[in-house]
Amino acid sequence: MSREPESIPSPPPVAAQTPKPPPFDPDALPLHDAKARIAELVKPLHDAERVPLDQARGRILARDLISGLDVPAHDNAAMDGYSLAATDLAPQGDTWLNIVGQALAGRAFEGVPAAGQAVRVMTGAVMPAGHDTVVAQEFVITDGQRVRIPHGQQAGQNLRLKGEDLRSGSPALAAGQRLGAAECGLIASLGIDEVFVIRKLRVAILSTGDELCPPGQPLPQGMIYDSNRSTLRALLEAMGVELIDMGIVRDNSDSLEQTIVAASRSADAIISSAGVSVGEADHTRAVMQRLGQVDFWKIAMRPGRPLAFGRIGNALYFGLPGNPVAVMVTFLFLVRDALTTLAGGQPSPPTVLRARAAAPIRKRAGRTEYQRAMLSLDHDGMPLVTLMENQGSAVLSSMSRADCLVVLEHQSESVPKGGWVNCIPMRSLC
Ligand code: AMP
Ligand code: MG
Repeated sequence: MSREPESIPSPPPVAAQTPKPPPFDPDALPLHDAKARIAELVKPLHDAERVPLDQARGRILARDLISGLDVPAHDNAAMDGYSLAATDLAPQGDTWLNIVGQALAGRAFEGVPAAGQAVRVMTGAVMPAGHDTVVAQEFVITDGQRVRIPHGQQAGQNLRLKGEDLRSGSPALAAGQRLGAAECGLIASLGIDEVFVIRKLRVAILSTGDELCPPGQPLPQGMIYDSNRSTLRALLEAMGVELIDMGIVRDNSDSLEQTIVAASRSADAIISSAGVSVGEADHTRAVMQRLGQVDFWKIAMRPGRPLAFGRIGNALYFGLPGNPVAVMVTFLFLVRDALTTLAGGQPSPPTVLRARAAAPIRKRAGRTEYQRAMLSLDHDGMPLVTLMENQGSAVLSSMSRADCLVVLEHQSESVPKGGWVNCIPMRSLC
């Protein structure tokens, strides 16, 4: 019997011979872990202040708001028409009722209608005593004295019930709720004109770099305009924070230290950009270490790998990358939630759409990527997403043109043409 000796090695598979690309930075923290670390370390502020309702938009409610009344306060008509008692409706055919008066919003019908009587009612009118049903005026015939109600009405129709919006004694809004248009209206509907909100966050921003020139001045040779502070200002103003602008700080560890110490005396959070990697002129991390603590400083994400997070005195510190797109993306996906939590609010996940990739997308497992893209509809009506050509993290114009970001999660790999990906519409972000 002939048998192949087991010791002869078989040739390696072809795939094993192709050189593997180098791994991403092994010290970089996965985005998910970075978010978890931040969530662990950020404790919400509790300082509350009382503000008039007409200045409360965008603020975060400091205490649960309990309704002191039923909204609406009475059963009332939801349509212009005629009110009646459902027990007066004929089991078959039309019903004729006598009209005994009228009720308008704010002007109730004073009497008590008898059996067989209808009341002309307008939307919002308090329901006449004993009446439980409204028939819309479009469906009736009337001579002014009597009204003909067609067959097929439902008892209780076209009515808004007392307390159906809010019940007296029940929570109308919970602490931590950001007050938008609906909430401001709701608070007013309870008769309240002042609310307790968390005080505004104080956030200091600074740009670092010897190459930076403020907009509005002639640009010296070899310099660039400081765009990061304008981006951060816009992002922060939309959150309703109190901004402390520390300006541009040169690549010099003493100036950086002085600025950060000053900022940490009054700010709840400090956000700087640039100077956070390991270049000759990158001082942020060392200064943070000297003055406070650095929790992590590299994240496995693109754009946005160097990002230092820590604390200086009572202030949280975010040392963002220098490249303008990286500043935006790290702010949107890390800093904003942290500031929302710090301000006593609840971070809400962004809107995510599913779309098919118009072309293959190259990606390796090991970092989260946000790619700028445009959404459209495919010939079959399905959402289609096309990546912008230039994904460079300094290219702010493509951030402005893109209408969404494609999110490629940490472990995900290349996506073939037609593969489904998650997209976050830009207008839901900023
Ligand atoms: P750095 O992290 O300091 O190496 O900066 C990375 C890149 O971002 C460099 O090309 C910087 O010139 C650029 N950069 C840094 N700060 C700003 C800023 N405030 N506005 C625009 N670009 C910046
Ligand atoms: Mg620099």
